Amino acid sequence: MGKKPLIQVEDVSFQYLVNKDEKIPVLKNISFNIYPGEYVAIIGHNGSGKSTLSKHLNGILKPSQGEVLVNGMNTKEKRLLKRIRQEVGMVFQNPDNQLIATTVEDDVAFGLENTGVPMDEMESRIRFALDVVGMSEMSKRAPHHLSGGQKQRVAIAGIIAMMPKCLVLDEATSMLDTYGRKDILKVIRKLNDDGMAIITVTHHMSEVAEADRVIVIEGGNIVLQGTPREIFQKKAFLQNIQLDVPAASRIAELVHHNHANFNPEIIHSYEIV
Ligand code: ADP
Repeated sequence: MGKKPLIQVEDVSFQYLVNKDEKIPVLKNISFNIYPGEYVAIIGHNGSGKSTLSKHLNGILKPSQGEVLVNGMNTKEKRLLKRIRQEVGMVFQNPDNQLIATTVEDDVAFGLENTGVPMDEMESRIRFALDVVGMSEMSKRAPHHLSGGQKQRVAIAGIIAMMPKCLVLDEATSMLDTYGRKDILKVIRKLNDDGMAIITVTHHMSEVAEADRVIVIEGGNIVLQGTPREIFQKKAFLQNIQLDVPAASRIAELVHHNHANFNPEIIHSYEIV
């Protein structure tokens, strides 16, 4: 690509330490780069290590072996973590763990505090972020009174307000219905068109089809990488690792790598099971 990588995952292995005698090996010698502005989907069946991997991308977890570098900054260096997290924002599956303030707008403001962003810019970023996710009307509401899908939108707004170079979504649209997901997909597409790198961990084929590149994880290893079209064509391989892609050939027909004629709506009904 000729560009400098935004994130470098270099030969990363990771074990969870359950107790002093027991380690659960999860990631095994994983290497890949994420470049500025890329849109990458990570897929794999439950327990394959996707979430563990995504938590390595902004230093929530540190590799047991190997390195993760964000714009050259090593996630093992504590003093760099704040800067790393401004560059790589992360939204998780369960928004309840991410929303803590008493109003929606305070929640979106939370990440911006202590970043040195001036107050008037903070206010315009909050307005912008809530507008992007379609939650402006609810800025004074209490987050815990919102629906699961609305909470996910607020959690995404909180990260958008930080203007990271990369947004990592770990099953972050899981609580949205088809229409809500479609709305958020449009938002993510727009952020990506404006230059933000997107990494999405997802079971939804409509999201996978949006990506420039798909990384398939199985048993903590990368077993396949390619464009959505290339991945969907390997139906037998995906089924072998229990990733069933119904009508893969149909999806492959629909996927246009440049997205020019691609309408993700068409394949909303095709999901990995
Ligand atoms: P995925 O996101 O693909 O479902 P995860 O990364 O959540 O996979 O989990 C990979 C493996 O690591 C699973 O076997 C899971 O049980 C284990 N695991 C995940 N989190 C922990 C944890 N905090 N402590 C111990 N084991 C964990």
